[in-house]
Amino acid sequence: MGISRRQFLQGGVLAAAGTALAGKGEASVDSPELRTKGATTSTTICPYCAVGCGLVVSTKNGKVINIEGDPKHPINQGSLCSKGSSMFQVAVNDRRLQKVMYRAPGSARFEEKSWDWALDRISQLMKETRDKTFKHTELNKKDNKQYVVNRTDGMAFFGGAGLDNEECYLWSKFARAMGVGQLEHQARL
Ligand code: SF4
Repeated sequence: MGISRRQFLQGGVLAAAGTALAGKGEASVDSPELRTKGATTSTTICPYCAVGCGLVVSTKNGKVINIEGDPKHPINQGSLCSKGSSMFQVAVNDRRLQKVMYRAPGSARFEEKSWDWALDRISQLMKETRDKTFKHTELNKKDNKQYVVNRTDGMAFFGGAGLDNEECYLWSKFARAMGVGQLEHQARL
């Protein structure tokens, strides 16, 4: 029996509608429920490098249960490199240090300290080093004259790859304000 073009198209539309209705049924045993179902999601940025890929973090009862690329983020559009893809294992890991561990000079053991203690200790050591090594002037051997330099050679600043432009700007301003001329960035190594 022959079939007209109109009958052929009508048949195709009915078949497509039937398939769509079948798809609205319960998930089969082969389609397990998503573990992120009912989770709270929030967005953040991967801390590893200055590409700054977006992440979606799913939490349930205050615990991170999944981290994946943010499909709405303009930079990565859902994709992540191998480091970013391992972010869940960084966030949820028994071996992750979450407290300050301090080993005193000459000591063989680490002791737990507070974050406030660590910040005070870093500030104190920076001040002591700067006071001890700050130079107002320096002799230029070429013309044997003293020149104002206002700097310390006792410290160096080192930026991390996770810093974005604005953070790098603040970091370098802070270094210059301290009189630090030895300023480097991990991305150049
Ligand atoms: S480490 Fe990878 S996922 Fe993270 S910001 Fe850089 S490129 Fe993106």
